[in-house]
Amino acid sequence: MTTASTDATKTPATTSTVADARAATLRGLCAGAIHLPGDPGYDEARMPWNVAVDQRPAAVAYPGNADEVSAVVRAAAAAGLRVAPQGTGHNAGPLGDLADVVLLRTSAMTGVTIDAERQVARVEAGALWLDAVEPAAAAGLAALHGSSPDVGIVGYSLGGGLGWYARKLGLATNSVTAVELVIGDGSVVRADEETNPELFWALRGGGGSFGVVTALEFRLYPVETAYGGMLVWDQKDAEKVLRRWAEWSLDAPDEVTTAFRVMNIPPMPDIPEPFRGRQLVVIDGAVLGSDEEAEEVLAPLRSLEPEMDMFARMPAAGLVRIHMDPEGPTPATSATTTLESLPEDGIRSFLDAVGPGSGTSLLMAELRQLGGAVSRPHPGAGALPRLEGQFLVFAAAIAATPEMEAQGYADALALTEAMKPYANGRSYLNFAEKPVDVSASYSADTWRRLAGIRSAVDPQGVFLANHPVPRLYENGRPAV
Ligand SMILES: Cc1cc2nc3c(=O)[nH]c(=O)nc-3n(C[C@H](O)[C@H](O)[C@H](O)COP(=O)(O)OP(=O)(O)OC[C@H]3O[C@@H](n4cnc5c(N)ncnc54)[C@H](O)[C@@H]3O)c2cc1C
Repeated sequence: MTTASTDATKTPATTSTVADARAATLRGLCAGAIHLPGDPGYDEARMPWNVAVDQRPAAVAYPGNADEVSAVVRAAAAAGLRVAPQGTGHNAGPLGDLADVVLLRTSAMTGVTIDAERQVARVEAGALWLDAVEPAAAAGLAALHGSSPDVGIVGYSLGGGLGWYARKLGLATNSVTAVELVIGDGSVVRADEETNPELFWALRGGGGSFGVVTALEFRLYPVETAYGGMLVWDQKDAEKVLRRWAEWSLDAPDEVTTAFRVMNIPPMPDIPEPFRGRQLVVIDGAVLGSDEEAEEVLAPLRSLEPEMDMFARMPAAGLVRIHMDPEGPTPATSATTTLESLPEDGIRSFLDAVGPGSGTSLLMAELRQLGGAVSRPHPGAGALPRLEGQFLVFAAAIAATPEMEAQGYADALALTEAMKPYANGRSYLNFAEKPVDVSASYSADTWRRLAGIRSAVDPQGVFLANHPVPRLYENGRPAV
């Protein structure tokens, strides 16, 4: 696969005035929903969910349908600008300098259709998880959502998608059945098993480098209730709880998916009293099975006598909120790594970095339980057939000021550094909120195949993703 000679990424960024003049050619598109620097609506339009990220694009476009997306892509490319698709901006951090970039926000496209008979959902690009989880539940069906109700379905699904059903049903990306998108020449294409199968493969785990997704279809599962909730201890019990959970996780059945967290809850008035201002250890998650099966699975954790035990039978739709993720714009900073294993000295390293007495500024440090169907290659999978390793580390801090961002990020990095001896060198890109070596998340063959597909659908390099897949150069060496 070779690239064309023109390269939108190489257009020199001389001054922001030049970018503004080029962006002005987009005026009038999207029924006028184009915001340029200096426009009254620009500051609101450019704001991502993670408000600690100060994105200053050449223009912000809010298309309402696929035709308007196509018009923006064509006009941006003609003007020598790139296009960064964005749903919510949960993962805006790695995008970098946007001076020559049109930020294409999909939040005006939120349609959701549930086909109960086929057990498939079709969502438009801007739909959030909550938009699909509730109508699916009304039809007795569940989607492979994550821990947050307001994460965008498209960004989550293109990058993997690890939720409470994952050890039983795999990553959400491998339940995607079709994708509609606008590619580099502005045309609208469909990718599924029969139509554009190579592109369909790349989109399932390869991220947002291949075009602007306008709609996604994915499988739903007949799960009406689950045994879900959380167990809570004071942080003084952190060591015994983590040791037990780490050991228990390895033999747990695929029907259960959990996370372990050390949490330092701020003393804010809107946080419920049992949590407010507390330093806690939390295990939460879901068991798919009968009450008896769930009680048997959870017994070794419950025997550690949690201060609060909220695990119970619940409507499956309720799982989208059990993790208590912040909803609405939030200033955050974080770091992540994947662990091959968590031996005894790894448990010590984790708690020395973030446990009681560590003085960490982190809001929380989390270990997600992998294994089961997450770790086995998914039959018929796309570019991300599984996540290797036993646990995923994610550490996050509130970054309301530049000083809090600096301290929080330093403490998050201190944890991932401390866990390096147990890490497998892979990044789970959905959890990576700073630029990372994207190639390290894939095998060498997968990386080359992704680069070839990117070259075919976006030869001019129009699209900018948070975790970009490069195009191939003529000598076959990939470069962004
Ligand atoms: C509070 C919180 C909880 C989370 N919980 C989970 C979890 O449980 N499991 C999990 O796996 N992840 C989780 N994540 C990570 C989340 O999946 C990623 O941040 C994901 O990228 C968010 O997608 P988005 O569309 O909301 O974000 P955005 O920042 O809008 O998008 C991220 C990237 O996705 C691509 N993209 C988005 N929309 C389009 C489109 N229409 N066309 C092409 N590309 C597009 C782009 O490359 C974009 O840069 C969580 C993140 C946060 C902040």
